[in-house]
This record gives sequence, C-alpha cells and structure tokens, in this order.
Amino acid sequence: MPQVVHAAAAAVFTASCPSVHGYPFLTTAAANLLDAFASDDQRRRFMHPMVEGRVFGTMCLSEPQAGSSLADIRTRAEPVEGRTYRITGDKMWISGADHDLAENIVHLVLAKIPGGPPGVKGISLFAVPKFRILADGTRGERNAVRVSGINHKMGQRGIVNCALVFGQDGECLGELVGEPHKGLACMFHMMNEARIGVGLGASAVAYAGFAYSLAYAKERRQGRSPLQKDPRAPGAHHRARRREAHAAGAEGVRRRRPRAVPLLRSPRGRRAGGRLGGSQARGRAPARGADADR
Ligand SMILES: Cc1cc2nc3c(=O)[nH]c(=O)nc-3n(C[C@H](O)[C@H](O)[C@H](O)COP(=O)(O)OP(=O)(O)OC[C@H]3O[C@@H](n4cnc5c(N)ncnc54)[C@H](O)[C@@H]3O)c2cc1C
Repeated sequence: MPQVVHAAAAAVFTASCPSVHGYPFLTTAAANLLDAFASDDQRRRFMHPMVEGRVFGTMCLSEPQAGSSLADIRTRAEPVEGRTYRITGDKMWISGADHDLAENIVHLVLAKIPGGPPGVKGISLFAVPKFRILADGTRGERNAVRVSGINHKMGQRGIVNCALVFGQDGECLGELVGEPHKGLACMFHMMNEARIGVGLGASAVAYAGFAYSLAYAKERRQGRSPLQKDPRAPGAHHRARRREAHAAGAEGVRRRRPRAVPLLRSPRGRRAGGRLGGSQARGRAPARGADADR
C-alpha cells in the first residue's frame, strides 16, 4: 500500500486511540524493516505472519543504562550457528513487549557481538521471537525472553510498556538481521517510521480534539447571530466560539485540511457568521469592526 494512503488510514485509528494503535503501528514498522534488510527466509518466517496480523513486532533499543546513548548498550549476542545467536541482557521501556493479542511476538533487538568495534559501530540487529519460529514457519518452543517489570506511564496507557530480560532463565535464541555491526542503521528504518508516526499521531489527536469541541459548539445552542432574532443558530456560528474550538485542538490541522472539516458552514450553506465568513474563513486578519457578532 502506498505510504501516504497507509498514513491517512492509520491517522483515523490513531485519532480514535493513539496508544492502542501502537500495536499495529509497531508491527507495521517492524515488517517494513524486515522487508528492507532481512533474508528471504526471514521474511517468510518473521515478516509474512506480521503482514497477516498473526504476529506482532516490537522495537528493543533502550536499556536501563542506555536511552539516548545507544553506544552503551550491554545486551550481548554470542554466535551459535549461521545467523543464529544466543541473546543475553536487559531492555527497558519496550512498548508492546508482551501480551496475548497475537500468537507470537517478534522483538527486533539491538545487541553487541563480542569482538566487534566499540560504540555504535559494534551494534547488530536480531529478530528474537517470543516463541521460536521453526524452518517451516510453525511455532516452536518458548524462547527465554521474559517480562521483568511493567512500567506505569502517565499517558499512552492503551499499550503495555515493559522491561524485558533475555536469556536469564534459559536459552534465548535470535537471528541476525542484515550484516553484523550494521544493526543501528537497520534500526533507523523503524525509528524513522516511528518518528513520522508520532508526529502524525499528534496531528490526529489534535484533529480529534478539534472535531469533538466543534461538534459540541454546534450542538449547544446559546445566543444568536446579529442577523437572527430567534436563538436558533447553533453556537458555532459565533466567531468567538469558533476560535475556542480551534484553540481546543487543531487550528493548524484544520487549515491544512480545509475540505476535511466542512463544519464552518451555516445550515443554509453559507460560511458561518454570514458576512463575517469571508476573510476570516480563509485565515486572513478580520476587517475592523468585524467582531460585531461576539
Ligand atoms: C511512552 C514510551 C514508550 C517507549 N517505547 C520504547 C520502545 O518501544 N522501545 C525502546 O527501545 N524504547 C522505548 N522508549 C524509551 C525511549 O526510546 C527513551 O526514553 C529515549 O531513547 C530517551 O532515553 P532516556 O529516557 O533514557 O532519556 P535520556 O537519554 O536520559 O535523555 C534525557 C534528556 O537528556 C537529553 N540528552 C541525552 N543525551 C544528551 C546529550 N548527549 N546531549 C544533550 N542532551 C542529551 C535528551 O534529549 C533528553 O531531553 C519509550 C519511552 C517512552 C516514554
């Protein structure tokens, strides 16, 4: 699906509940990363079930001692065989880290292979499933990735956020995605998608706030237009009311999507406020004396 079409569709769900939308959002970004960097076999076993909605994805960068400073991560990946590595370490603040909404979860984990270059140049990327995924794509035994704590957030409470521990109570196996020591560059594919998604989410939430407040202002009847003798005009006809609705949410969003909100029209099809609609509705400064309908 073209990215613009996907973003427009996702914005509707984000506006309805930005935190719950984090689950499909992270999964889409993980699938896109795998599509860009994983082998054909990994795409078949890890990515395709994500696209089908059966398996969810996460992004595991942060650690208790490494948030912005990813060069300091301590999670290690010891070679086992081929692209398979044994993962040990802790990750922190992982959104969607564990749940039973999907039949499996594939964590995309940054870790260091011993002997690699220091700093960010020694970071590699691994796909670490909650349940191992066998060669034929079926679900295998439980991998040793466990929740070690649940973070209590002030907001975004529709998506769980956990601390994870890898390889503490058993063997945790992961598969190298892309080349060794090039993992951060791969992870930026997902991080950049997350950045765009967070920005889009902010616009969607602001738009939802604007739509709710404007709908309320239209529904609540109070006062009247100076052109009307009877108090039949909804509140949204008043410039001050419209301004409050914009301040409540998304004046900027409305201006970018003028056709998405045909709410500033009077019941007769004219712009709200009658003679006052012209320059104000187009975003220009009102003419002197134009506040007469307050
Ligand atoms: C709701 C939520 C969900 C999250 N989900 C995930 C997730 O799914 N996966 C994941 O891996 N992580 C996740 N995180 C963690 C997030 O990625 C980190 O919070 C982020 O990387 C910042 O790290 P930090 O919190 O340790 O802040 P710090 O690194 O301690 O930064 C604190 C402040 O210091 C500033 N700062 C840091 N270093 C410097 C510097 N060198 N120079 C100048 N200023 C600096 C920062 O800009 C910031 O303002 C989540 C966080 C939140 C709040």
